[in-house]
Amino acid sequence: MDATIMPSTNLLLTKLKADFPAIQFKPGESFLWSPSERTLYYSPLDNEDSAALLLHELSHGLLGHNDYRHDITLVAMERSAWNRAVELGSEYGHTISDEVIENHLDTYRDWLHARSTCPNCSANGHQTEQYAYKCLACGHKWRVNEARICALRRYHLNNNK
Ligand SMILES: [Zn+2]
Ligand SMILES: [Zn+2]
Repeated sequence: MDATIMPSTNLLLTKLKADFPAIQFKPGESFLWSPSERTLYYSPLDNEDSAALLLHELSHGLLGHNDYRHDITLVAMERSAWNRAVELGSEYGHTISDEVIENHLDTYRDWLHARSTCPNCSANGHQTEQYAYKCLACGHKWRVNEARICALRRYHLNNNK
């Protein structure tokens, strides 16, 4: 059924471009919402998740998602962008499966877990600054890298082990 997927995703992109003229759509290496450029970057629309990701990135833009100070906020943003994407999907005739959403959110949950786990004693840490955590159990402090909205797939997770 590949032959039917790509044209329908391309058609969706054409409709979204027409309906949301305030947002720029540009081909890129991966699906990414850039708040500073107000631009949605999309990678080749070549699989069945492409329509879902297109709607998801657009939702980040429509919801005004921007910088965040706490990692937990990023996970919450991902959840709300998926909720909005499901609504948009029903308007545009694209059903987004729960599996796609949960897979995506799992990436963020794993990322949050890896960042917040103490490299010293493996207890849970508390985020004290944008890029810093402190262990609740042993008091160890550690720093984490910047992460951008929806770009986690391009980063390797640091296990700190
Ligand atoms: Zn610790
Ligand atoms: Zn996202």
